[in-house]
Amino acid sequence: MNQESRPDECPVCGADVPDGAAACPECGSDERTGWSEAARYDGLGLPDDAFDYEEFAGREFGGRAPRRRHDRFWWVVAVLVLLAWVWFLAR
Ligand SMILES: [Zn+2]
Repeated sequence: MNQESRPDECPVCGADVPDGAAACPECGSDERTGWSEAARYDGLGLPDDAFDYEEFAGREFGGRAPRRRHDRFWWVVAVLVLLAWVWFLAR
């Protein structure tokens, strides 16, 4: 699943990392230690499922995480209410 995030070169020591390798053969870096940072920069704005927005926001904004999930929830509610209203008027 994470094979695509594996770099061709180890970002830590620069050694070639063979296809399918789970870790750098030179320095032993793997997705948990070494190159997960580099992979994150490559996929800027497109984090994988394990990405924790709350934790990220907490780090970025000093603990005052914007409540983005709730914003999205209320958007859905607003759209549903609007649709129901239009349906009611169109009868
Ligand atoms: Zn290495």
